[in-house]
Amino acid sequence: MEDCLFCKIVEKELPSYIIYENDKILAFLDIKPITNGHTLVIPKKHSTDMTEMSDEEASELINKAKELIPKIVKAVGAKGANFATNCKSESGQDVFHTHFHIIPRWDQKELPPWPHSNPSKEELAEVKNNIVSFLKE
Ligand code: AMP
Ligand code: ZN
Repeated sequence: MEDCLFCKIVEKELPSYIIYENDKILAFLDIKPITNGHTLVIPKKHSTDMTEMSDEEASELINKAKELIPKIVKAVGAKGANFATNCKSESGQDVFHTHFHIIPRWDQKELPPWPHSNPSKEELAEVKNNIVSFLKE
């Protein structure tokens, strides 16, 4: 896709620090890593975010990430990793080509904890009912 940064990385029109590649998937270092070894795993075929991918393509990508996570963690001497993807700009997505972040972690202090809220049982039940009714559609 024209003007897509990660398509250009796939095509090798832009440089990147590739750690793994096969015919469908590319994994390369994030250029502004949150932690050492921060890696992006992407499908070579363009999609804006993972909700656009076929089940098969998404499974292959996640399975490859699952394989890479412990290897990256070991390689950089970390203890664990965050595995995340952003869908749509409101979530913080900046590059609109599907990518999964693998962020090695040593302890919980590298990133602020998620700002959990404390809803009532009634509020949780209302949210649950709303989502369940959408899932039935
Ligand atoms: P997101 O906010 O989920 O869209 O994440 C996009 C990520 O891509 C950010 O963590 C950026 O640091 C990273 N990024 C942007 N440009 C490049 C690039 N040329 N090579 C590697 N990573 C990049
Ligand atoms: Zn793209």
